[in-house]
Amino acid sequence: MAWRPKYKQLCAICKKSHVLISSRGQFPICTACSMKQISQPIEDEKFKAMFDIDQKLYEQSSFLRSIKYNYLRFGSLSEKQIDTFKRVSEELANPAHSNKNSAQTATAATASAAAVISEKQESANEAKQVKQAKPKAKKSKK
Ligand SMILES: [Zn+2]
Repeated sequence: MAWRPKYKQLCAICKKSHVLISSRGQFPICTACSMKQISQPIEDEKFKAMFDIDQKLYEQSSFLRSIKYNYLRFGSLSEKQIDTFKRVSEELANPAHSNKNSAQTATAATASAAAVISEKQESANEAKQVKQAKPKAKKSKK
């Protein structure tokens, strides 16, 4: 069994709740803040239907939240992300139907989909850093 180190970090948004970090490159955001982030309405009919799952599933799974967040942020998802989202949300919705094997499949798929996401986020972060160069100076304002 693969053991991953876990530690707690303060939520980067509200700076109040602690977030359990269990994977490399995971953005420290608490469930409440990420639920808020993904509560925006979706206009695209296809994605609206896809993301229309029980709110509890989003609360349970940071993976499902990250997929929805990525869609809201980039306006699109890869086929792989869509497939994995559907499979993971179905498995979470019907835990009785999924045995240990399929749970492991979901975890593996989650990891690879997460890798795709972090690649995307890295390039987005770079763009963000350029834009955010100014607000930093704000702190030193007299
Ligand atoms: Zn928070």
